[in-house]
Amino acid sequence: MIDEVVNITIIGAGVIGLAAARELSARHKNLVLLEKNDTYGMETSSRAGEIIHSGLYFPAGMFKGDFCRPGNSALIETCARHNIPYRRTGKLVVANGAEQIERLQDIKKGGEENGADDLLFLSQKEIHSLEPDVRADAALFSPSTGIIDSHRLMAYFLQAAESNGTVVVYRSEVTGIQFTGKDYVLEVNNGEYSFKTNVLINSAGLYSDHIASLVGIDIEKQGYKIHYNKGIFYYASPSPKLRHLVWPVNPPNKKAGRRGIHAEIDLSGMVKFGPLWDYVETIDYTCDESKRGLFYESIKTYLPQITPESLKVSMCGIRPQLHGPGEPYRDFVIKDEAALGYPGFINLVGMECPGLTCCIPIAQYVTSLVDRYTS
Ligand SMILES: Cc1cc2nc3c(=O)[nH]c(=O)nc-3n(C[C@H](O)[C@H](O)[C@H](O)COP(=O)(O)OP(=O)(O)OC[C@H]3O[C@@H](n4cnc5c(N)ncnc54)[C@H](O)[C@@H]3O)c2cc1C
Repeated sequence: MIDEVVNITIIGAGVIGLAAARELSARHKNLVLLEKNDTYGMETSSRAGEIIHSGLYFPAGMFKGDFCRPGNSALIETCARHNIPYRRTGKLVVANGAEQIERLQDIKKGGEENGADDLLFLSQKEIHSLEPDVRADAALFSPSTGIIDSHRLMAYFLQAAESNGTVVVYRSEVTGIQFTGKDYVLEVNNGEYSFKTNVLINSAGLYSDHIASLVGIDIEKQGYKIHYNKGIFYYASPSPKLRHLVWPVNPPNKKAGRRGIHAEIDLSGMVKFGPLWDYVETIDYTCDESKRGLFYESIKTYLPQITPESLKVSMCGIRPQLHGPGEPYRDFVIKDEAALGYPGFINLVGMECPGLTCCIPIAQYVTSLVDRYTS
C-alpha cells in the first residue's frame, strides 16, 4: 500500500478521461490518471467517426443535446489554439421524396432546440453545385459540423495534464475498490499495488459499469448496465470525391440503422461509410465483411455511382450504451454518487455518441462536481 493519499484519481485515459485530467489539473493538485492499456486512447476514442457534431440529432434537455453546441465551439477553439488538425467540412442531410423532405423540418427543429442557428435548406441545384455526385431532391446543410484528428486532440490533453503535474500510469488496471467511509482504496493489477484517493472518477468507457459495481453500486438497479453497440465502417476503392459529410435522412432498410449509412470524410480526404450498428455480447473488434449488401443498399440512394464490389471493410468501434435493443434512448450518466452513499465517486457511464464532441463541457461539468470536495 502506498501511504500518500492521492487527491483525485481518474480511471481511464480515453478522450473523456484525458479532457477531465486537463481541466481538473488546471485547478487541483495531486492527480493520478490510471489506464489499463499500454498507452492512452486505445479503445472507443480511437475508433470514432471523428465528427465534431453540431447538435442536430441529440435531444435537448439531455447532456447529449445541451453539450453538443458548446462542445463543438470549444473543440474548434482548442484545435485552432493548439495546432490540432480539424476542418469545418459542413454536413448535408440529404432527402429524396416528399416524406423524407418533410423529415428535414423535424431535424432542423431538433437542431435549433440545441442552439444550431445556422441550418439552411438547399435545393437540388444547390446540392449539385456543392456535391456533383450526390443525388438528392433537397438537403439540410449544417455548416458547423466538422472533423477532427482525435488522436492529436488526446495527445494535447495528455501533454497539458502532465505539464500541470498529473501522474499518468499505464498498464494499471483497477481491479478492486473499497470505500472506507472517508476515501477510496484502489487495488491495481490484482494487488500489485494499492493506494488511497479522496475523489475517484470513473471514466472507464465500455468497462464503466464494472467499475461502478466494484465500488458497490448495484448496476442493474441503478440502470447502469452497459450494452455494447458495435459500429462498422466500410470504405470504397476508388474513393468517391466528396467535400462534405453526407447523411441520408432515412434508411431504405431498417437494418441499415436508424439514420442510414453516412458518408464521412477524414482529414486526408478519404471517404468512409458507416457506421452500421449491431448489438453484440462481447468486446471484439473483428470486422465483418458480410455487411456489404446493406452498405450498398443505403449508399446507392444518394451516391448512385457506387458499386458493391468497390466497398471494403474498414474498421469498427463499440459504443457503451445504456439503452439496449428496443429500449428508450438514454442520456449520459455524469453524477456524484453521494446519494448512493459514495461521496466523491464521480460516475461517467454510457459515454457514447457524441462523447468526443462533448468532451470539454463534460470535463468542465465533472470539475464542477469535484470542486465541492477539494480546493
Ligand atoms: C463507431 C463509433 C463512432 C463514433 N463516432 C463519434 C463521432 O463521430 N463524434 C463523437 O462525438 N463521438 C463519436 N463516438 C463516441 C465517442 O467515440 C465516445 O463517446 C468517446 O470516445 C468515449 O470516450 P471515453 O474516454 O469515455 O472512453 P474510451 O475511449 O473507451 O476510454 C476508456 C478508457 O478506460 C480504460 N479502462 C477501462 N477499464 C479500466 C480499468 N479497470 N482500469 C484502468 N483503465 C481502464 C480503457 O482501457 C480505455 O482506455 C463514436 C463511437 C463509436 C463506437
